[in-house]
Amino acid sequence: MIELISSVDDRYLTDEHRMLRGVVREFAENEVMPIAREIDREARFPWDNVAKMAELGLFGVPWPEKYGGVGMDTLASSIVSEELAKFCPSHSITVGATITLAASPIYEFGNEEQKQRYLTKLARGEVLGAFGLTEPEAGSDAQGTQTRAEQKGDHWVLNGSKIFITNGGVGEIFVATAVTGELPGGRKEISSFILSKPTRDLEEAQRVGVGHAEDLKYTPGFRHGTKEDKLGWRASDTTELVFEDAIVSNEDMLGQRGAGFKNFMRTLDGGRISMAAHLL
Ligand SMILES: Cc1cc2nc3c(=O)[nH]c(=O)nc-3n(C[C@H](O)[C@H](O)[C@H](O)COP(=O)(O)OP(=O)(O)OC[C@H]3O[C@@H](n4cnc5c(N)ncnc54)[C@H](O)[C@@H]3O)c2cc1C
Repeated sequence: MIELISSVDDRYLTDEHRMLRGVVREFAENEVMPIAREIDREARFPWDNVAKMAELGLFGVPWPEKYGGVGMDTLASSIVSEELAKFCPSHSITVGATITLAASPIYEFGNEEQKQRYLTKLARGEVLGAFGLTEPEAGSDAQGTQTRAEQKGDHWVLNGSKIFITNGGVGEIFVATAVTGELPGGRKEISSFILSKPTRDLEEAQRVGVGHAEDLKYTPGFRHGTKEDKLGWRASDTTELVFEDAIVSNEDMLGQRGAGFKNFMRTLDGGRISMAAHLL
């Protein structure tokens, strides 16, 4: 048995952090380690463990209790990432992407109604979330976004696609950027939106009891595309997202019009903390 030593310096941890670390470490040793190699080889998404992680409250660690969370902090979230990633980064990124990339911008930039409608579901682990920024022409240069949104009365119509989206197929709640206009000087005005679609793995989600919410209002014209066949992290679900005249109501714009790029860059800062914790 390998001796596992946490890299998060003990001096910074409260008793609550240590307790959380113990719970996640025990879960990882008992439930993740035995299947890690097999699910990676088979590129199989670990739905049974997603249900167990939801029951442990791992998807809600940093969010306030009033939004279905555990009421801890970013350090606690990093402890979860670190402990899971010791055995299986796919488990870790499934939780990490839902927390730091999907729930985080809704918590930071969403209005109260959006938080009640979407954040609570993500925090309780009822459904998984994803963040759509990257496009074929917009990787490191995220401002290269080509997905467009056109306002038509009480809704926006989105056309375009995203690639490499973690939880893209399995997830049900999404945040994504699109170009909503042109700024003086010719720069793109980029805004962000909240979208929903049913999980690809409906049967599995129904079998384990998490991953699908009947009461979500799905976005017409929005779907996941091809699943990536990756070299590593193969049990993490990475797909395209496709917007074909996708109809998003005005109330599902996330944050101010034109603030999408700036807000998503802030979201990525949190994502980077989570990613660093994976690699400790
Ligand atoms: C497993 C996985 C999961 C992901 N999950 C998500 C997700 O959930 N949501 C999401 O939106 N995206 C996601 N991504 C996308 C990820 O954020 C991008 O891959 C990343 O932004 C890099 O973009 P790119 O792959 O297009 O690489 P490129 O931008 O093509 O870069 C390729 C290489 O060129 C270098 N390079 C790029 N531009 C320059 C320059 N101007 N000067 C010098 N060097 C340069 C880069 O450093 C890099 O080494 C995921 C990617 C992977 C692999």
